[in-house]
Amino acid sequence: MKDMLKKIIEEHRPLTNQGQVADYIPALGNANLNHLGIAVYDSDGKYYEAGESQIKFTIQSVSKPLVLLLALIDSGEEEVFSKVGMEPTGDPFNSIIRLETFDKQKPLNPFINAGAISIVSLIKGKDNIEKIERILEFVRRLADNDNISVDNSIFLSEKVTGDRNRSMLYFLKSIGNIEGNVEDILDLYFMQCAIKATAKDLARIGLVLSHGGYDPIREEQIVPKREAKIVSSIMATCGMYDESGEFAVKVGIPAKSGVGGGIICTVPKRYGIGVFGPSLDRKGNSIGGVKVLEDLSREFDMSIY
Ligand code: GLN
Repeated sequence: MKDMLKKIIEEHRPLTNQGQVADYIPALGNANLNHLGIAVYDSDGKYYEAGESQIKFTIQSVSKPLVLLLALIDSGEEEVFSKVGMEPTGDPFNSIIRLETFDKQKPLNPFINAGAISIVSLIKGKDNIEKIERILEFVRRLADNDNISVDNSIFLSEKVTGDRNRSMLYFLKSIGNIEGNVEDILDLYFMQCAIKATAKDLARIGLVLSHGGYDPIREEQIVPKREAKIVSSIMATCGMYDESGEFAVKVGIPAKSGVGGGIICTVPKRYGIGVFGPSLDRKGNSIGGVKVLEDLSREFDMSIY
């Protein structure tokens, strides 16, 4: 495994020159285009890595399945899915085109921005300080790493430029999909996106999800099985934005990407995988990361289909 990871990372590193870093959030524009790394945990707790697997980056949309998981535990399945659907959209993650045509006036799934914003509004806590601390504690526990925090400069950078998300949130409020103070909810969403972690952390979380919320390393149930399975299922159908279908065919692993360049993958009963590569393709997925996963999945027969 170790040699294979090294080989495929170096094989696909040149591809990073063909993508772009996400500079619509200005502070993300400082990322190194050529970084590419992968981290893998197997069920026995063995760990393998290659490339820039221990560089910290903001997880952006990779936070969406994690906050969804906490919301499901906080509020239950029924309430969560009264706010968002479970269907892929085929539209870009930040699309506003279906805002008025959403099925039953709710975002189609929890992984498009509108859906994720609706979900974070369900997180319990008396104010944003308590809510983000709960989210961070949850992510730290999943990753078994206390050293996970919010990158303040990236949070602020998105806060001052995030008018597209702001407009979606105002619309959701107007149709009664969310309650509460719009700017507070938006701040919390930008904070969850600015959580800093490494590919290794994502692999560790992926391993917990791959065992239905049970951590084979700590030998402990970290989150309930039912909720872990819901999140993995939505990762399989909606995790790679409007590239989810192609990713299912070529890689075949439940995954979730973010514009910081991260991808979390969970191979049921077998592996947790984290990828980092901030050079993105046109859909916003790590250009080298997707190729690395394609090769890895083929070599180790990881497709779940
Ligand atoms: N914070 C980003 C946004 O809302 C997250 C998007 C992403 O990673 N796809 O635009």
